[in-house]
Amino acid sequence: MATEADAQELAALRALSARIGGNPHLTQAAGGNTSLKAGDTLWIKASGTWLKDALSDDIMVPVAMGPLIEAVERRDPAADKPQAFAIGALNPRGLRPSIETTVHALMPQRVVLHVHCVDTISLAVQADCETEVALRLDGIEWAYVPYRRPGLPLAQAIAERLRPGVDVLILGNHGLVVATETVAGAERLLHRVRSRLARPARAVANADTAALTALAGDSGYRLPADVEAHAVALDADSRRMAEAGSLYPDHVIFLGQGSVVARPGEQVADVIARLGTNPAAILFAGAGVLMRSDASSGADAMQRCLADVTARIDTTTRLNYLTTADNDELVNWDAEQYRQKLNTAG
Ligand SMILES: [Zn+2]
Repeated sequence: MATEADAQELAALRALSARIGGNPHLTQAAGGNTSLKAGDTLWIKASGTWLKDALSDDIMVPVAMGPLIEAVERRDPAADKPQAFAIGALNPRGLRPSIETTVHALMPQRVVLHVHCVDTISLAVQADCETEVALRLDGIEWAYVPYRRPGLPLAQAIAERLRPGVDVLILGNHGLVVATETVAGAERLLHRVRSRLARPARAVANADTAALTALAGDSGYRLPADVEAHAVALDADSRRMAEAGSLYPDHVIFLGQGSVVARPGEQVADVIARLGTNPAAILFAGAGVLMRSDASSGADAMQRCLADVTARIDTTTRLNYLTTADNDELVNWDAEQYRQKLNTAG
C-alpha cells in the first residue's frame, strides 16, 4: 500500500464491498467485484470469494497493473490468467485475482465497481437494450458492450467501446460497471444508475409450499433458500423466458445451461428420467421451485437472481440468450472451474 490515503480508500472500498455484497439485487454469490488503483498496483477482489465477506475476510488481491494492461494490448493469452500478475509478496494466501481483473485494469478511473445488478441485467438481456438504456441514462457518459466471455474477450470488447469520459458500462447479458476517482463517488454513481434503470417486478401469487413439500418427498430435492426464488415458476412469462435458455454467465456457472420446467403431472423422478440427469433446480408451474439437495449456496443465490431478473424484463420484447458455444465456453473454462471448486468448498 503506497500511501495513507490509499489505505483509507481501501478500507472504505472493503466497507462498500460488504454493503454491495449484502444486497441480492446488486450481487449474488461470488459474482461482482470491486477494485482500487494505488500507484502501479490494482487491488481487486479474489476469484471465488464473496463481496459480502469483504470486512470479515481478506478478499482483496494486489495485481501488477502495467504488465497486465500490456498483455491485454498484445492480446497475449496470459492476460486471461490474472493470477500470473498477482504480487506474491503482498498475497500470502495465494488468492487468485478475479476473472474480471482485466475489466478493472482497463478503466482509467481509480475505483471500479462491477455488479450483477438485477435491474441492469433485466435490460441487458433485451435485444433493444441500447435503445432502452439510452432513454434512461440521459446525461450520463455510458457505453454498451455486447456480450463476450468474461476475461480477455470481454476486456477487448470494452477496449473497443471505451471513449474518454465514459464512467458507466452496460455489459450485454451480464451486468454493470461504474468507475470514478473515489469510493464515495463510486457508490453515488452506482445508486444513481441503478435508480434510473429500475423497473418494478411483476406481481406473482404465493408459492404452493404444501405441493412443493409433497413433490420434494425423498426425491433428493428441497425448497430453495430464498422464498423469492419461486417467482420464476409462478409467472408464465418469467417461466417462458427461463426455459428458453441461459441469460447470463453466472447462471450457467452455478445452475447449468438454461432452466428445467416440469411438464404437467410430472414428479421429480419423471423429470430426472426424461432428462437423464439431475438438474440443479426444477420449476413447477404455478407451485414454485425445488433445488437439488446438494445445491450450493451459490446455486441458491443464482436461482433467486433468475426470479428477480425475469420478473423485470419487458414481456413483449425479444431477448438475447447465450449461444450453445457461449455456454460450452463457460463450462469448460479453467478459471471458472476454479471458481466453482471454491464455491463447493465454501
Ligand atoms: Zn461479472
